[in-house]
Amino acid sequence: MAIFSSKINSLIPHNAYAYSNTLFDVEINQGVMSKYSCSYALKAGDQELGELTLMRSREFTDDELDLLENLLCSLLYPLKNATLYHQALKMAATDQLTQTLNRVSFNDTVKREMNWAKLNAADLSIIFLDIDHFKVINDQYGHDCGDSTLVAVAKLIKENLRKNDTIFRFGGEEFVILVNQTDLANAELLAKRIRIAIERNILVYDMKPVKVTASLGVSSLRSDDNFDAFIKRADNAMYKAKRSGRNRVFLAQ
Ligand code: GH3
Ligand code: MG
Ligand code: MG
Repeated sequence: MAIFSSKINSLIPHNAYAYSNTLFDVEINQGVMSKYSCSYALKAGDQELGELTLMRSREFTDDELDLLENLLCSLLYPLKNATLYHQALKMAATDQLTQTLNRVSFNDTVKREMNWAKLNAADLSIIFLDIDHFKVINDQYGHDCGDSTLVAVAKLIKENLRKNDTIFRFGGEEFVILVNQTDLANAELLAKRIRIAIERNILVYDMKPVKVTASLGVSSLRSDDNFDAFIKRADNAMYKAKRSGRNRVFLAQ
């Protein structure tokens, strides 16, 4: 978009452009917003490619708009390729059922955030969450109900997170939450909020209420931590929560 905007600027002068593609969560605003604008919904075949708006302080002429429409044709196919590439990357990193990041993304993201936290002397915490007696939900109500439970739990977790926190589906009925710039005490508060949200939520499946709870373990990054130690402490804390009765939050020792 930046290249397109700069290349056409001598032919169709403009002060700003905005591009949004809600399907892929892309929103670019560049330059000074101005009074007059022209907008185009971009499409190549069936593929929606978002909306582009050019802005400036005087009206666009009909000749300029004709020219712009021709120039936009040369943008569509590169944009389609970029969009498909973006979509492929996103799909490879995402668990399709719960729309959380998958295990593939987990190692890279956690290692990157650990490095950043160490360099900046920032707090970093991690929460392991495992749904309690999930096998019973599957056995009693069926696999579809199990799937709906996973979707509902992922949604409840997301509702309690801030923009910079990340949720992963770590395994079958296990989620991990990476909590940036947060110490152990505050991560514990978050874990408790999530535990209560899951316990209070009434999942209705096939007209029947399904009771869901989860056990959570929390650890915070220590100065001498490596990846395995940081993860293992939270996992161990989660297992302690299980062994001591489930539906509770345990902190790593
Ligand atoms: P605990 O309280 O000790 O965690 O018991 P649990 O029953 O939750 O744990 P267990 O590991 O015994 O069982 C997990 C079950 O999760 C077994 C597996 O079939 C089921 N599962 C894993 N992935 C999926 C999925 O994508 N959908 C559904 N419906 N079930 C899944
Ligand atoms: Mg499990
Ligand atoms: Mg479980």
